Amino acid sequence: MAKCDKCSNQSKFFLPYGPHKYCNKHFNSFFEKRFKKTIRKYKMLSKNEVIVVGVSGGKDSMVLLHLLEKFYSKEQTIKALSIDEGIPNYRNKAIKVALKEIKKRNIEFKLVSFKKKLGKTMVDVMKKTGRNKTIGSTCSYCGPFRRKLLNETAVEMNATKIATGHNLDDEVQSIAMNFFDNDLKRMARLGAITKGSKGFIPRIKPLYLAPEKEIIAYASLNKINHFSEECCPFSWQAKRNAFRTMLNEMETKFPGTFYSILSFFENLKPSIQKKEKTTFCKKCNTLSSGTLCSACLKLEKIN
Ligand SMILES: [Zn+2]
Ligand SMILES: [Zn+2]
Repeated sequence: MAKCDKCSNQSKFFLPYGPHKYCNKHFNSFFEKRFKKTIRKYKMLSKNEVIVVGVSGGKDSMVLLHLLEKFYSKEQTIKALSIDEGIPNYRNKAIKVALKEIKKRNIEFKLVSFKKKLGKTMVDVMKKTGRNKTIGSTCSYCGPFRRKLLNETAVEMNATKIATGHNLDDEVQSIAMNFFDNDLKRMARLGAITKGSKGFIPRIKPLYLAPEKEIIAYASLNKINHFSEECCPFSWQAKRNAFRTMLNEMETKFPGTFYSILSFFENLKPSIQKKEKTTFCKKCNTLSSGTLCSACLKLEKIN
């Protein structure tokens, strides 16, 4: 194998979009530098913030927590929040991993559940949605409910920012899905940082420029414990899987496609946002495209 771009060691990582070739050490520093650069570039943090990290136990959120602690815990307060959607044999296992890691770190932590806060687990939702197309698929309930609880609980924890583990692949999939759906309203809400308002904490995605594969590599290099069986048992319903497959194929054939889609979106974003004005839910203050947010609408539908 070829040499590292930065030293005379053998390269262990080949990143075709650069192209970059790095040894373990230089891959690590490349990954960490990009993380800090992302936070600066999108002005994600100012001084003395209270950052509530959404921790699911998966690789993204565990790497995010690790990096925020490593580089920002001196100037910022870092707290963790886990949400239990009530998906048996999945989230309970992931949360166990999350809790173990969080306890090691001695940071303020909260665990909230769909059951307690909404009166329904995702299994209850699935029983209602089943094949009933008019109220939407099971998976379309999970995200809005999770975002709603994330915000409400972060408010209780005095957060000034909510940090989530969304990576480059996630974001590019969302952009493509909104493009295929002709959904400008939703597309306007994407991006590295979401504006806040009274009762709505701004959300940041510090792993926004990190490809999923590299997060997996970083987690393994740095021995970051995480729950790796990441496929939700309900996700056979998710349209996202089809987009993931298609986009990964494009990235393999044409390296750099992901960053190119992201840049296209960022060039377009100001005009989309001018057209699609940001509004907030009358009931719970969450960012919303109508009078009520999708979580509040969906709660009405299944109750
Ligand atoms: Zn090197
Ligand atoms: Zn709402």
